[in-house]
Amino acid sequence: MSNLLDFTGGNEWNGRYQLIKCKKALSPSKLPGIDHALNPYGGCEHGCLYCYAPELTYTEWDDWRTVRVRMGIESRLGKEISAVKGTVGIGTTTDPYQPAEERFELTRKCLIKLKEKGVRVHIHTKSDLILRDLQILKGMEGEAGITLTSIDEASSKIIEPNAPSPARRLDALAKLTSAGIDTYALVGPVLSVLDSKEEEFVNAIISTGTRRMFIDSLNHRPLLSQRMQGIGISGSDRAKERIRSLASSNGMIVSDVF
Ligand code: SF4
Repeated sequence: MSNLLDFTGGNEWNGRYQLIKCKKALSPSKLPGIDHALNPYGGCEHGCLYCYAPELTYTEWDDWRTVRVRMGIESRLGKEISAVKGTVGIGTTTDPYQPAEERFELTRKCLIKLKEKGVRVHIHTKSDLILRDLQILKGMEGEAGITLTSIDEASSKIIEPNAPSPARRLDALAKLTSAGIDTYALVGPVLSVLDSKEEEFVNAIISTGTRRMFIDSLNHRPLLSQRMQGIGISGSDRAKERIRSLASSNGMIVSDVF
């Protein structure tokens, strides 16, 4: 593999990146409410055991964590932006604020371009690194969402080993919301780690001030299912319906993920 930067020397994950030249920044999107998809990175370092993107893209699990860094995406975006009509979804296939973004800042550079042109954005992450760009996001038209799957750090470390803790994500959601950004929580997949903790979990989300929730079940693709069985964690329809009911009765707008 050419242009490979490998920082994975110690026991802790510290990144493996393949630098590639970006030839096209935007692609058409069929996701609801999103017209163009913008993904600065391919692959993802968060390592969520329930991630089905590797199976969708026929990528080996280990290779999925080698991040393809789409160098020059912001210049390509500058050339393509005049044709944009509607909303640009940032991070439709992988997380735009995974650790690679700390080093390469491609999401940030693209956001600046989109803000200059007044383009509406939909941005989704499970990282509080999004707060670094709070001043850029302020005043932009659009929405921002944060994924939450557990309330305690120990569970999060098992199911999403390299993603920020639930506390950091809740803090990010609260700060985005209080900055006037239209936010939502994506609760998904709802796993058995939330059984009997539904009330505490929903209260934590309500305390951020966000008023919208999307909720999702565990996908059952074969390799993903093997990984989940290996750690003894399953999807929980019971917790899902309880969370839906608690959030709705507290005035949140709850929708299923398409
Ligand atoms: S953050 Fe998203 S893309 Fe990245 S590993 Fe987790 S589920 Fe997959």
